[in-house]
Amino acid sequence: MRRPLLERYQEYLPLTEQTPPITLGEGGTPLVRSERLWRELGTSEVYFKLEGCNPTGSFKDRGMVVAIAKALEAGSRFIACASTGNTSASAAAYGAHCGLTTLVLVPKGSVAAGKMAQAIAYGAHVLAVNGNFDRALQLVRELCSRHPATLVNSVNPFRLEGQKTAAFEVIDDLGDAPDYLCIPVGNAGNITAYWRGFRTYHEAGKAKRLPRMLGFQAEGSAPIVFGHPVKDPKTIASAIRIGSPASWKGAVAARDESGGRIDAVSDEEILEAYKLLARQEGVFCEPASATSVAGLLKLAREGMDFRGKRIVCVITGSGLKDPDLAQQIADVPLQEVSADLESVEEAVSSLWGR
Ligand SMILES: *Cc1c(COP(=O)(O)O)cnc(C)c1O
Repeated sequence: MRRPLLERYQEYLPLTEQTPPITLGEGGTPLVRSERLWRELGTSEVYFKLEGCNPTGSFKDRGMVVAIAKALEAGSRFIACASTGNTSASAAAYGAHCGLTTLVLVPKGSVAAGKMAQAIAYGAHVLAVNGNFDRALQLVRELCSRHPATLVNSVNPFRLEGQKTAAFEVIDDLGDAPDYLCIPVGNAGNITAYWRGFRTYHEAGKAKRLPRMLGFQAEGSAPIVFGHPVKDPKTIASAIRIGSPASWKGAVAARDESGGRIDAVSDEEILEAYKLLARQEGVFCEPASATSVAGLLKLAREGMDFRGKRIVCVITGSGLKDPDLAQQIADVPLQEVSADLESVEEAVSSLWGR
């Protein structure tokens, strides 16, 4: 059995004797080497950190396991969050696992089907707020300040502590930090957490170098790139549809201290990377996750030289979260055939010569 995250990285996490060692099997996700993309870029190596392999299908579980363990330690019985979907799925799962009451506020109509299904199946109390994510977060923050509920959004400091373990795993797998880490940026907690993780391991002597952090936002919701909040953020990538990131300062520090960049990509570029990952690499992710690869391709096209570099792209969540999108972008309609061999042979006759 894979060692639970809280046990494996115990010495780097804010745990005490009283922290319950809960786990749903989070962390220890695969680092898969690219078979095709690296050729296009002329790099030596590109890897995908497959965070969709976490128990609820996104990296949110790394931070949630720590936040929930600390909430239990503090005697909390009630957790709450605002969410574009994955935080609520994760909170609901750990809440159920630990017998807590879970309340989630989601922006009405803008959460992918798979994520809603999870929150409901795990038995969370789900409220669809008539407003965007930023408003839902404001509301839940106020709610938690007035009532005995623990806020488990990434403004909860334990979330980022847990999320930094992904950087540890990258170093543990590669033997050192990569040259570049490409990552989507929404509320900006994850880029902040990765940078903290890389620095922590570097200081502990577990890595000889530090990566440059390349963060990517969607053009229609790129407050950090523009330098001001976006009032009505828009993008197909709902997990990063955030106009006023909570960890803004952390993201800017990660960028500047690492000599990296935070850039924006269009929805078209995100969809191109989403298809490329699925069709040429066998990696099915949600659109927000494809942002890291879209950004890498964009910088390469603009002439940034990645030759001889080792690059890790964080693939933050599973494609199963958003099944509607995969069907919308199919190139050919689903073909129906009669249930006889002749019809099937006829339908596929053009494939044999390929
Ligand atoms: C939460 C999330 C992000 C954005 O991470 P932040 O920490 O908010 O920047 C990106 N992709 C997926 C799949 C997510 O769930």
